[in-house]
Amino acid sequence: MSLPAAPAATVAELVRGLAAKRYSSVELTRAYLDRVAAAQPELNAFITVTGEAALAAAARADEARAAGRGGPLTGVPLAHKDIFCTEGVLTTCGSKMLANFVSPYDATVVAGLRQAGTVMLGKLNMDEFAMGSSNETSYFGPVRNPWDTARVPGGSSGGSAAAVAARIAPAATATDTGGSIRQPAALCGVTGIKPTYGRVSRYGMIAFASSLDQGGLITVSAEDAALLLGPMSGFDPRDSTSVDSPVPDYTATLADSLDGLTIGLVKEFFDDGLDAECGARIREAIAVLEKQGARVREVSCPNLPLSVPTYYVVAPAECSSNLARFDGVRFGHRCESPKNLTDLYSRSRGEGFGAEVKRRIMTGTYVLSAGYYDAYYLKAQRVRQLISADFARAFGECDLLLGPTSPTPAFRIGDKCDDPITMYLNDIYTIGANLAGLPGMSLPCGFVGGLPVGLQLIGPHFSEARMLNAAHRYQMETDWHLRVPAAFA
Ligand code: GLN
Repeated sequence: MSLPAAPAATVAELVRGLAAKRYSSVELTRAYLDRVAAAQPELNAFITVTGEAALAAAARADEARAAGRGGPLTGVPLAHKDIFCTEGVLTTCGSKMLANFVSPYDATVVAGLRQAGTVMLGKLNMDEFAMGSSNETSYFGPVRNPWDTARVPGGSSGGSAAAVAARIAPAATATDTGGSIRQPAALCGVTGIKPTYGRVSRYGMIAFASSLDQGGLITVSAEDAALLLGPMSGFDPRDSTSVDSPVPDYTATLADSLDGLTIGLVKEFFDDGLDAECGARIREAIAVLEKQGARVREVSCPNLPLSVPTYYVVAPAECSSNLARFDGVRFGHRCESPKNLTDLYSRSRGEGFGAEVKRRIMTGTYVLSAGYYDAYYLKAQRVRQLISADFARAFGECDLLLGPTSPTPAFRIGDKCDDPITMYLNDIYTIGANLAGLPGMSLPCGFVGGLPVGLQLIGPHFSEARMLNAAHRYQMETDWHLRVPAAFA
């Protein structure tokens, strides 16, 4: 496989190149579309490529720039996870259930990034309804990790992470319910940010677990994330949980000094489950941050080890309710010649959903049922509070928390498919932030056996600017985020 050269290393570079008229948006867009086409058979990162629409949008961006209109992002190509509704474009959520669904409207995230002038290349592959940690549950087939195509890219935003890692898209939107931005970013050697719950509107983002879902980004660098996060953030009257607080200019404080920043190393994140070599990479990264002026201390979040069982009660409960809307009546998959209404419901859902989605719906229905609600669901909500309180206490002692993103580097495709519990344990370090609604990031911090390792930062609510600042300072001193897998260079 030989790929046409990528026009630039980062979105920041594309912004400068477009402003300096080194290339037009049409040229850029064509270059990325060519890379997508060349890499698609190998990676399967896209579900839909919207080439014609992309070139038309790029031409409009070029016209706007020529007329002196538009902003820094005008003409920058990117791709959206296929969980975001896109008007007039297939929106599948990785499921057979929505394999024929063309959305009549844009998600707020999509609209915001479009208004900022970005050009959509297409829709990215993902685990079915964002349920998974390996991208193997997609109805459209697994995505492959560009660092080793026999391995998973992580999930559920595996298409987003693989596309950015292979530089076939300069940046991608993604979502994180239990780690789906950070874990695939870690496994693919790219930067991922899950903002504070409520920072980014969930309107038009197909719901999995509404109290946990949050949209965000997978990018090459923290600087790129800072450039793109603003336009997709902010209050949205159509999402009752979106927060009405001003969106800062995330690029303004990127290069601030880290002097006086206190970073907490979460004791529970450095447990026996963490691969020793991955742990070594994390410790090397800590030394880099210390050299930048950060102070490091150990903190404890004793209830954090309960986050996986807590999540696997709360998330399935919410999903069983959210996915009740897929009934074969109004949209999505409908079975052939139903005998009656019950038959329509049960066969449409039976045919439309894959095994993992069914497992979650059944678990969720069970934990919410009379007689079990108190024992499981209510108890999980209580533990969720304890986990939030642990974080709040830790943030009394430090500004940001640090740990690994994932216990191991990317595993082989097929390795964990038959064992849901082992698969679920992949998110042991990421789920806590979702339960507490906190922002989190994953940054590339080195390699183990040729595979990327991710460093995780977690901040207090609405500390995105501070987190991006620490991440950017780290990336000023390191070049792990700029490494590209040889086959896609
Ligand atoms: N891997 C977790 C799950 O399967 C998290 C998924 C996500 O964040 N969307 O539920």
